[in-house]
Amino acid sequence: MAGTNYEPDVPITISPLFAWPPRPGELLAVNARALVAPLLIFYALLSVAIWYLLTPSLASMQTLRPGWILTVWARNLVLLTLWAGGLHYFLHRRRTQGDRLKYTDRPFSHSRTFTANNQVIDNMIWSLGSGVTIWSLYECATWWIMANNPRLVRSWTDDWLYLGALVVAMVFWSQLHFYLNHRLLHVEPLYRLAHKVHHRNPNTGPWSGISMHPLEHLLYFSAPVLLWVVPSHPVVVLMLLLYSGISPAASHCGFDRVEVFGRWSFGAGDYYHHLHHRYFECNYGNRLVPLDALFGTFHDGTTESHRRMRARRRAVRPDADLPAPEPGPELSEVLSDMRDDERY
Ligand SMILES: [Zn+2]
Ligand SMILES: [Zn+2]
Repeated sequence: MAGTNYEPDVPITISPLFAWPPRPGELLAVNARALVAPLLIFYALLSVAIWYLLTPSLASMQTLRPGWILTVWARNLVLLTLWAGGLHYFLHRRRTQGDRLKYTDRPFSHSRTFTANNQVIDNMIWSLGSGVTIWSLYECATWWIMANNPRLVRSWTDDWLYLGALVVAMVFWSQLHFYLNHRLLHVEPLYRLAHKVHHRNPNTGPWSGISMHPLEHLLYFSAPVLLWVVPSHPVVVLMLLLYSGISPAASHCGFDRVEVFGRWSFGAGDYYHHLHHRYFECNYGNRLVPLDALFGTFHDGTTESHRRMRARRRAVRPDADLPAPEPGPELSEVLSDMRDDERY
């Protein structure tokens, strides 16, 4: 059995949003820390740069024309290639930090499940083909609607307080939206029809992030539909779309933190979601809006949590042909005591 060589501290901590009695101080601190995470700041600054430097003007997008639509699509294609490709190149090809902070020591798969028997090539095809296209279609639809409805566009100088609050609200909206569409995708026939494509990757890499079936992309990238009726600013639209488009490359990169020049590091991988890829019937959402805790599907990384998840998983999918779960160091102890057919 392949082992996992890095496990962050468990139990995983989550926001006390649904805690009773309420813990407002802790709630505020957890959210404030999450909002100033280096990667979130990076995505926000990138959105500003992209709006001012790499997006056609709203006036030119009043009419649907191939020119600007293709410009948006090509820009997103290059963006994802640079971000996911860069993370893959440094972490998995040049192996700049070896196996340090890596969740699993398993190599990427060369099984027949994947196009060309190659997990990375297969993941790239789904991400760049369907992923970037559907992401860009939502973006173009949003620009066209905003360009033709000036009341949907607010200005930072006049409405900075409203837009600032909206940016924060969009962080929570994107998390809630992810939970809702992801939970739905685990219901048959949507799982077999669509979500199974993403779950062929129990061992994820940067290119697995938005490696999904087109039907899943249609749901997954639909968060900005809210901004078709709620007034905002193009930078807010880009923040929402960029977060959906490129942040999964980091959260699926396979490493808890990415080291830079051997001196600094930033939080990249998402162990919470990593456990979802390993065990399927747990952790559908995220730590900031922890609906999993509310609905009893939270796996906090401990053996006790694993036993509960295993019982639930059997009840939900007794005949599922899912890949065998891959235990972490602590879990491998309890799993080694079980018969093979008891493990999942
Ligand atoms: Zn995933
Ligand atoms: Zn899933």
